[in-house]
Amino acid sequence: MAADTTDAVVQADREYILQTYARPDFVITRGEGVYLYDTEGQQYLDFVAGIAVNALGYGDPDVIQVIAAQSAQLIHTSNLYHTAPAGELARMLVESSSAFDKVFFSNSGTEAVEGAIKFARRHAREHFGEGKTTIVAFDGSFHGRTMGAVAVTSREKYREPFMPVMPGVRFASYNDSASLEATMGDDVCAVILEPIQGEGGMRVADDDFLAAARALCDKHHALLIFDEIQCGMGRTGTLWAHESTGVKPDMMTIAKPLAGGLPIGAILLNQRIADSIHVGDHGTTFGGNPLATAVAGVVLRKVNTPDFLAHVRQVSNYLDESLQDLAADMPDTILELRGRGLMRGIRINGSASAAREAAHRQHLLVVTAGDDVIRLLPPLVIETQHVDAMISALREVLR
Ligand SMILES: *Cc1c(COP(=O)(O)O)cnc(C)c1O
Repeated sequence: MAADTTDAVVQADREYILQTYARPDFVITRGEGVYLYDTEGQQYLDFVAGIAVNALGYGDPDVIQVIAAQSAQLIHTSNLYHTAPAGELARMLVESSSAFDKVFFSNSGTEAVEGAIKFARRHAREHFGEGKTTIVAFDGSFHGRTMGAVAVTSREKYREPFMPVMPGVRFASYNDSASLEATMGDDVCAVILEPIQGEGGMRVADDDFLAAARALCDKHHALLIFDEIQCGMGRTGTLWAHESTGVKPDMMTIAKPLAGGLPIGAILLNQRIADSIHVGDHGTTFGGNPLATAVAGVVLRKVNTPDFLAHVRQVSNYLDESLQDLAADMPDTILELRGRGLMRGIRINGSASAAREAAHRQHLLVVTAGDDVIRLLPPLVIETQHVDAMISALREVLR
């Protein structure tokens, strides 16, 4: 019966859904805590969290409660009208950092990146006239799949088949201030970077590289945009990943974990940029709807507490030690450990997607970052015992 259900779902999927993903042969039906369950009752330890989305794991009672209450009250009005949850969430986001004064809500990460690019160009045009339109991005970057966001995404496989994508982009080398300096010019309106690269390989930006990016942006009157869609919202043990670096961006894109699994994105920006954006310059039908923003308010309130963030730091330290022990035991297989907080990459001597498939057989869910990096993005509520279980499964996988 259960096996029949699994086959039927997998088959319908293959027949009717556009095949842009290679999915494993099980069907997930429910989640609880940090575990997912399939149609056959098998349990999986989740170190993916819906790609850094399910920060609170599955079945958080406050998330369930606010979805029920807000959906009974009001789901959507469009942005033609005032509703309370968006303003309340925007206030909390602005107060969460000293860098930003205004928020624009979207429905996804890529839309937030599109908006940030538009705001950067709008701002440059207002202050410097036409011609200051270039965006500088970095090798190893991932910013999304739409025509602007994919244009600042480095992987050619994502970009080349869809040419021409948005023109006016130059790439510099990540963590290489000299390369950035050589790539900068007065035609640059913005530099966009991930403080910790996700999809592109889990590399962490050095503090002095970020400081150099800030200084070069100031020198050329360009905006510095941080994409914290994956690394933000507590994943590194501070609310925003760049907090610990002391470098302030002009804009920041966030999305994935913000609304507890409901689609959302947001652009945080400073007043100087906000002053150059006018009524009618940008818009969205769904962005900032009462349901997504009410849920996000609850998620942000839970994540942005000293206790919650201290828990992330504690379990991160434990994960760090555990991965270092594993790497020490397997020097020929594990070539490098990357990442920070609960965002970790394990570069292996072999295929990351083969390791991911082998992990599925150990009932452990992991994701890849490029060809040879296993990416770990657990729910932020994991405990040390889950780290132990993950490590022993991974030991089997990499043996
Ligand atoms: C996932 C991701 C995006 C794109 O977000 P979507 O919601 O998938 O459009 C952009 N930037 C980073 C850093 C991401 O991890």
